[in-house]
Order: sequence, then C-alpha cells, then structure tokens
Amino acid sequence: MTFSHKPDDDPQTSPSEPVIITRSGHPISRKNIDPNAVKILYRLKNSGFTAYLAGGAVRDMLLGDTPADFDIVTNATPRQVKRLFRNSRIIGRRFRLVHIFFHDRLHTTPQIFEIATFRRPFTLEQDDAESIKEQPELANNLFGTPQEDASRRDFTINALFYNIADFSVIDHVNGLSDLDNQIIRIIGDPDVRFAEDPVRILRALEFACRLNFSIEDETIRGCQAQAHALSEVPASRLREELKGLYSKKTTAALLEMGNHYQINQYWLPEEIAANCAEAIPVIKQIEDFFPTADNSKELEKMLVAALIMPGIFKKFPLSDNVRLNLVQEFVEESLKPVNQRFNLPRFQRHAIKDIYSLLYRLGRGDKRVKKLVSRDHFFAALFFYTTINNQTAEKPDHFSFWQRQSESLNRNSRAKGLDYSRLFAGN
Ligand code: ATP
Ligand code: MG
Repeated sequence: MTFSHKPDDDPQTSPSEPVIITRSGHPISRKNIDPNAVKILYRLKNSGFTAYLAGGAVRDMLLGDTPADFDIVTNATPRQVKRLFRNSRIIGRRFRLVHIFFHDRLHTTPQIFEIATFRRPFTLEQDDAESIKEQPELANNLFGTPQEDASRRDFTINALFYNIADFSVIDHVNGLSDLDNQIIRIIGDPDVRFAEDPVRILRALEFACRLNFSIEDETIRGCQAQAHALSEVPASRLREELKGLYSKKTTAALLEMGNHYQINQYWLPEEIAANCAEAIPVIKQIEDFFPTADNSKELEKMLVAALIMPGIFKKFPLSDNVRLNLVQEFVEESLKPVNQRFNLPRFQRHAIKDIYSLLYRLGRGDKRVKKLVSRDHFFAALFFYTTINNQTAEKPDHFSFWQRQSESLNRNSRAKGLDYSRLFAGN
C-alpha cells in the first residue's frame, strides 16, 4: 500500500503544511486500537481538545502490526488531562506527562496509558531542571504545536499522528513516504539530533533490524560521526533502552549491525565489543529458543552471559577440569565493565555467576542429576551446554547422558514450563 499522497510536482511541501491522509487512504481502524485508548482519545476530543495517537502505535498499525502500546498526544495541559480522568497521575519532573490507569479483572497490574502534551524540540537551556525549579514558567515553554511535537521526535516513521476527530493520519515530516520506502531517517540535522541524544543512534539500528528497513545515508553517517557520544550515556538509560530490545528478539541483529558500522565499541565495554562476533551466534540461539512475552529478565541474564562467554572460554576451556572458584572469580571480573555500562541488578549478576558455575560442572562431567537440576539456573546452564556442543561434531560422553535424562528432568525441574527435551531436539 502506498501512503504517500504528496503531489509529485511539489516535493517541497511547506513544513507548516502537513500531508493528511483521510480514513479511506490508510488501513488504521478503531477496531485495532485498544478500547481504553479509544475512550481516552474520545474524552479529550469531546472536551474540546485535540487528541492524537502518536509514535510507535501509528507506525505499527500502518505496517499492519499490533502495537506494543498506545501513546497519546494532546493540546490539553497535564493538569487539564488530570482533571478529565479520575484514574490518572501526573509524572515527570521536567516534562510532565499524565499516566492514566485502567484496572480490570484479567490483569493483575493496571494497564497504563501515557498522555503527553504537544511539546517543542528541546534545547539544552530549556532542558535544565534546575532553572525550571527556579522559574516554573519555563516548564510551560516546553509545550508546543503538533508540528513542533512531530519535529522533536527521533525518526520520520515515528512522528506520524492519528487524529481521532476525523480518523485521518497527519504527517509533518514525510514519514509516510519513508514508511512506504522502508527507510529509517532521523528528523532534522543528523549530527545535531544524534549529539543531542546519542541513544537515538542505537534506536536507529534497532528499528532498522526490527522492521527490516534500511538506514538512510545521511542518518547512518550521523550515527557513525556521533557514536563516540554513546560512551557518555548514563547506564540506567542504556539499560532501559536495551530492555525494550530483548523482548523483540533483535539483540543479535543489532550487534551484527553495530559491528558492521563500527558502533559497538562506543556503547559496549571494550572486551565485549572486541569479541562480539563470537557471541552473536549464541545470542541468535537464545532468541530463537526462548519465548519472549514478559520474559525480559530471563533473556537479559542469558544475553549478558552470552556476551561475556567468548572471553571466559578463552581463559578457561569448558572441558578443562578447572577449579570452580577460579571460574566464578573470573566471571565476576568479566561482569565488572558490563555492570559499569548497564547497571545490572545484583540478582542478575548472581544468576550469571550461577549459570557459569553450573556450566563448568557440566563441562567437567558432573552427573549428579538431582543436585544439579534443583538449582535455579540449571536450565540456562544446560541450554548453553547443548548450544556449545551442538556446534561441534565430537560431543563429550556426558552429552548423551544428559540427553537421556531430559525426559525425567522435565518431571523434576523447578523451572516449570521449560522443556528440557527441546534442548536436545535434532541430536
Ligand atoms: P516501541 O514499539 O518499541 O514502543 P516506539 O516508537 O513506540 O516503539 P518508544 O520508545 O515507545 O518507541 O517511544 C515512543 C515515541 O517517542 C517514539 O515513536 C518517538 O516518536 C518518541 N521517542 C522515543 N525516544 C525518543 C528519543 N530518544 N528521541 C526523540 N524521540 C523519541
Ligand atoms: Mg512505544
């Protein structure tokens, strides 16, 4: 389907004139929008405000995919939104947003929608939390027009609006034609936008991998030119962005692309970036094997364990009869730079150490089934053990021992829902 209805003889549509696609020209139907999001949009509209769906939801629905969440933008201020919805809360210190909560019997945790007021592209001056504290009126200067709101977003395909008033799609940034042509393009000057927020560099690669789009030339040039700034991104922000990645199974692809464009050395610890090509096949296996829904904690520990694996195997080959405390110490050592970069929670670091200690037990032929299988991270360890051995024709004797055990492991395991037999499928 072609969404780009811009007249061919007018390639320079004025920036204040958005391209508008009416309902008959695009596939977004209210049926595909979460009913609670529709309710919010209508309540805003019926109270006289502009209300749009924005961001990933519009992009995904235009592509025929199911959106992960439905972000809403409006010209109502956070206070006005708060007044309209009893079940809401204003959040954020600098730029204030409203969260609207929906509780239902099906879900234990409430469903949350984020409602933002149209905002201007930020400048460093306006972004200064301290000066806002001193002059609260500055905060209002962050609000802007729909067009400004579109232009402060990252990529053209992420800046489309769906207008509940007439069901049209509004495009201020030529995002529809990029969506048609499967292109990731940063909005505005690439160097400025990537320097302003280097996380956008990872997001460019991420969306290219996830959607199988190509990155426009100037955009990727900007990514490479500004990649050095990734090393300054705070750990918490980096981890937050990566957590979104895990559940979408695009970590291996992102690492591959980051290697290709020589960007990994700026956001990964040096040793990990250097060995990353060896870790990628294992990460691919993880992504193929593990179910994704709500599983990002499980995936995170596996992915980090895989990232440090090449370095660990170089130091201690798996088949060697090494002392486990030496392995544990080395794992801890290898996790230090990872932790500095991503602020891994302590329980994840413990989990990864346990995985390695179990993996080396398996490697040296420990066959105490009951003892091993009762350990929390045994499934993960056996996963790595089979993955590594599947890469070689010569399998150790104890490999077939564990294969024979897999049925009974399913019965005895504490890790419910994980199928040990699948680990040996194809052997
Ligand atoms: P996903 O399906 O992963 O949620 P998304 O596009 O909705 O994709 P979010 O991280 O949920 O991504 O962000 C919502 C929207 O906010 C984006 O579509 C984009 O318009 C804007 N956005 C997010 N991060 C940035 C950023 N770093 N710089 C500029 N705009 C951003
Ligand atoms: Mg989103």
